[in-house]
Amino acid sequence: MVPGAPRVAGVHGGKVGVMGRRKSPTQDFVLAGSDVTRAAAWRSRSDLWHHFLSAGRSWAIVVRGADILTTGAGNETRAVRVPLASIERALGGPPGDRVVFLGADVDEFSVASVSGTTLPDVAAYFAWIAPDQRVLAAALGSAMGSGGGASSAPTGPRREDATDHTTWQPRRPGRLDDAVTAGRTRDALREATAGLAGQPEGDFVPLRTAGEFLGAFDIGLALPAVALAQWHDSAPFCSSCGAPTAPGEAGWLRTCTGCGRDHYPRTDPAMIVTVLDDSDRLLLAHASHWPERRYSLLAGFIEAGEGAEAAVRREVFEETRVSVGEVEYVASQPWPFPASLMLAYRARAISTDIQVDGVEVADARWFSREDLNAAIRSGEVHLPMGSSIAHALVRRWLDG
Ligand SMILES: [Zn+2]
Repeated sequence: MVPGAPRVAGVHGGKVGVMGRRKSPTQDFVLAGSDVTRAAAWRSRSDLWHHFLSAGRSWAIVVRGADILTTGAGNETRAVRVPLASIERALGGPPGDRVVFLGADVDEFSVASVSGTTLPDVAAYFAWIAPDQRVLAAALGSAMGSGGGASSAPTGPRREDATDHTTWQPRRPGRLDDAVTAGRTRDALREATAGLAGQPEGDFVPLRTAGEFLGAFDIGLALPAVALAQWHDSAPFCSSCGAPTAPGEAGWLRTCTGCGRDHYPRTDPAMIVTVLDDSDRLLLAHASHWPERRYSLLAGFIEAGEGAEAAVRREVFEETRVSVGEVEYVASQPWPFPASLMLAYRARAISTDIQVDGVEVADARWFSREDLNAAIRSGEVHLPMGSSIAHALVRRWLDG
């Protein structure tokens, strides 16, 4: 098997239950994607919110920009789930345009078959985007108090749900050596708790770092949620005429109030590549703006009018002056920070002399497996964060 190739390419496991925890061909990619049925056909239904509110078993995760509200720590980290009824109670009415429909506990066949009829009595999942802190605290009071039902008194968090936000840390702290990211996490936590009368039962943490520790189902909800939250924040005005835009399609569309143009969430393709030479050595680079000693695969955005394979050859040559021949697709992973889709490739180098510009790329080297393992052990090389596709690809190559 070639390094980096999908281990079970093209093979999907059978669907196990409607929650759909299917095995993915890219399951070692932490953020590989979603098992959640998106039920896109339901997004235009005006009864969406009220139906799932009255059914009583649907809930929302809470996101703000690229951060997600979590509780627990390490491998126990999970997204805080706020029942729709708690959101309505906290707001005194329907949530308006800051709630996005993410999907439902249903299969695609059923989604297609209920067109025009009453929605089925299943659980549905939403994202609540950046609610005011006091509103959030009010919703969490009943969401995570004992029982959580409409009639239960807001008794505050259960002990097991309460989190001391100052101690949140990942399961493998050594792998999150990015000082910038750590600083962002602390800032996000401080901001999340500022101005609150009581401690909220959760902490906003960056999905790009927390992603490694969340379960697959939470990840499947959180990826589109943070992608959409950031898009809504960045698209308040029409790019054609400048008039304000208004959300629609349960959060999956913004329509211009001036010229009527529809705007959809963006996804920007980027490529990342495992470049190997004839001795099966791996090409890794250190970008000037990265933390010291971090080395990773070469990556870059695919430019307008460019094919992904051409972008692989162009970026590798631009950054290292290494020419590559054969280029082969491996897998993809969403990276919504803010809007990337990482397309992973494997490429064979046809030259090995390296020249870096010293400005954008400070260093690039060929590593044998022994070299890289030793460099990681000695601390000479730090790999990128565990949720990144770069980390998974380098690990695959190291595992042979
Ligand atoms: Zn317009």
